[in-house]
Amino acid sequence: MASVNEAVRLECIADMLQHTGLDRESIETDFLRYLCHFMGRNPGSEDYYLFKALSYTTRDRLMTYWKETWHAYNNQNLKKAYYLSMEFLIGRSLSNNLLNLGIEHEAAEAMHDLTLSLEEIEDSERDAGLGNGGLGRLAACFMDSCATLQLPVMGYGLRYEYGMFRQRIQNGFQVEEPDHWLGTGQYPWEVMRSEYTRVVKFGGASRQYTDPHSGQLTVHWENAEEIQAIPFDVPIPGYKNQTVNTLRLWSASAQEGFNLTEFNAGSYHEAIAKKSEAENITMVLYPNDSSENGKELRLKQQYFLVSASLQDVIAQWKKHNDGFSRFAEYNAFQLNDTHPSLAVAELMRLLVDKEGIKWDEAWKITTQTMAYTNHTLLPEALEKWPVSLFERLLPRPLEIIYEINRRFLMQVAMKWPADLQRQRRMSIIDEHNNVSMAYLAIVGSHSVNGVAELHSNLLKEGLFHDFYEIWPEKFNNKTNGVTQRRWLAMCNPELRELLNDTIGEEWITDLSQLSNLKPYATDAGFQNKWAIVKRNNKKRLAGLIKKQTGVELNVDSMFDVQVKRIHEYKRQLLNVLHVIHLYSRIKRGDMENWTNRSVIFGGKAAPGYAMAKQIIKLINNVAEVVNSDPDVGDKLKVVFFPNYRVSAMEVICPGTDLSEQISTAGKEASGTGNMKFMMNGALTIGTLDGANVEIREAVGPENFFLFGLHTPEVEALRPHYNPQGYIDQCYELQAVMGLLESGHFNQFEPGLFDDIIHSMRSPNDPWMTLADFHAYITEQQIAASAYLNQSEWIKMSILNTACSGIFSTDRTMQEYNKDIWKLTPVSVSLEE
Ligand SMILES: *Cc1c(COP(=O)(O)O)cnc(C)c1O
Repeated sequence: MASVNEAVRLECIADMLQHTGLDRESIETDFLRYLCHFMGRNPGSEDYYLFKALSYTTRDRLMTYWKETWHAYNNQNLKKAYYLSMEFLIGRSLSNNLLNLGIEHEAAEAMHDLTLSLEEIEDSERDAGLGNGGLGRLAACFMDSCATLQLPVMGYGLRYEYGMFRQRIQNGFQVEEPDHWLGTGQYPWEVMRSEYTRVVKFGGASRQYTDPHSGQLTVHWENAEEIQAIPFDVPIPGYKNQTVNTLRLWSASAQEGFNLTEFNAGSYHEAIAKKSEAENITMVLYPNDSSENGKELRLKQQYFLVSASLQDVIAQWKKHNDGFSRFAEYNAFQLNDTHPSLAVAELMRLLVDKEGIKWDEAWKITTQTMAYTNHTLLPEALEKWPVSLFERLLPRPLEIIYEINRRFLMQVAMKWPADLQRQRRMSIIDEHNNVSMAYLAIVGSHSVNGVAELHSNLLKEGLFHDFYEIWPEKFNNKTNGVTQRRWLAMCNPELRELLNDTIGEEWITDLSQLSNLKPYATDAGFQNKWAIVKRNNKKRLAGLIKKQTGVELNVDSMFDVQVKRIHEYKRQLLNVLHVIHLYSRIKRGDMENWTNRSVIFGGKAAPGYAMAKQIIKLINNVAEVVNSDPDVGDKLKVVFFPNYRVSAMEVICPGTDLSEQISTAGKEASGTGNMKFMMNGALTIGTLDGANVEIREAVGPENFFLFGLHTPEVEALRPHYNPQGYIDQCYELQAVMGLLESGHFNQFEPGLFDDIIHSMRSPNDPWMTLADFHAYITEQQIAASAYLNQSEWIKMSILNTACSGIFSTDRTMQEYNKDIWKLTPVSVSLEE
């Protein structure tokens, strides 16, 4: 590579800045140049072209800072962190990038000059749905916060050709459609960097050699299939701070000259078929949230991510350093759940086999650099892979895992001599010959964290107790958050302006400033303004719902919202039972203290999760009966919002009055939807689960609707849980079960909801839905009555926003940095 002197580099930067002015005229000029010259269109053409032209215009303005950020990170000795995640649920980028660049207003005016609407152009961007739900969205929020905090953190993920499926509702059932989010053109935000292509191996065999000269034993991984990992970089701008970090997404491609021998032998079709098999690795995101999958292709995806990313980091390291003695001092890896936990074995392989480092030294480097975040307590989500699959796909990493396990079990035996039971329990390879990815991650990391106080404590007491006993110092908590740039400033512009006018703009980078709102909670004038903003946001949401479902909502009714993945532990069913209860009250004329409600559901079910899909059908059938009953009218409306995704949540959370966070206590690790709602002034009805505990503490119990069993009560009840007992004791529940079991919601579809009914009636129902029913409807009535006193409700709404300051991912990232990564912020400055 040619080396360019510093003066030329600076001249180039100055030139770039000059040609990418942030004013309205420069934006307009560049927009037209892209639209007309590059794409051969004009301002009257389809939104798709307008979106692309404005995105390229915006990307040009990021590019100068992006280059400078790379330069600042690579030309000094500084520690960097790498966030390894199978999912980055980015959503849209145009409006976010305009906001962080500080040119929203200028872009809107430039478009206005051309009689175009910025809002419409932004609305035509497709979501980058490279994730399932909370875990993937968290990774995206983390990236935003790291850039804003000027932390040298890079994200590594996969560039799935097909993201999360699109959900259509047909006759009340979920129908999945492939989401080819890249469209026919390119994703305007990414830059392909083929020069950093890496090669990842699968299959073959591991062989030992003794070097004839040194006598040293080395291991070669031979006859493997080699697949190329091509990086695509996505810019992650900080908020008005000239930092642009990088999210690097790998795309799988067959090696150039792939299987030439087969071509030569005339097996043209076979060779091409193999090529597409290689490219299958990053073809599609697995659409399972909180459940492991066990598919071979999934394991391949995980190893592909880990191997390409670690090779990439090591190659960068070797450009500037000799040897690895200081590697751990300058590099940190954060594993987002167990999905990338093969990084432990892969870093060992690269250091020992490729770099010739001794095992003990390599193990020290590995454990000092790796940190693992656990995201779930659900046993069905704990990843385990059969040894036989490893033998076939990853023979050399398997050998390394065996050796890690052998040494680890020796350590266990030293600490607890003769406790064979414990050794068996803790083995990374379990009694059924499966590799436990969580155990591999814990053994290979110096830090293990949960994602909310309650969750982190439950890890220590339960799931990982044995490991906690050996290494109490590894365990820590990092309560999740969300970025207020996207989830308040961007998605709720009217509230943003009200906040700016009231407490200034500092909250955008320091969310604790929101506490300055507290004195305004009882100010009648401010309450009025707050109410107007909320009402406008409800109108916007109602408009979207009308467009998507045809159902018209009364903006003055309470908007009661549960949107999240459909899963039994999240208990959408409990919410449905409450809806049926309200319907049954209307039918019997029990209208005392009534509050009109619009109950909004949304979320995707994993395509193979039959019960979750049945729950969607039940919601839609109940909605159909309720919405078409003339006795009900405006008193109650029920809708299922189709294709819930990031861009939908950006309209939903500002327009919500009541946020449903009703999982069985001890099952939701944290939740982050709960935080988005709180920030936007919704009140929460919820169980003591995940981050709800901390939300309630922050806002005060008088501003939170709590109900239900606590975690220890759930566990104590489990052995003698008797659903029938709860039905016998509660006439409201009898009425609800009566309607459901009579087939009232499936008149022409007999037996359709039998599985749901059986699951709720089963003494083995893990989610114990009926146990919390009475407490839930009681608390719902308290919430409904509270809503009737609008001034009191608005006060609580203001306080929820005012107390949401700790739920910023800025705070979360500062904690990761202080306790785990220990990076120094780098300021990127282009003033000269
Ligand atoms: C925030 C968010 C989630 C996570 O929601 P939870 O209620 O915490 O499960 C899932 N999906 C999308 C699109 C989100 O924006």
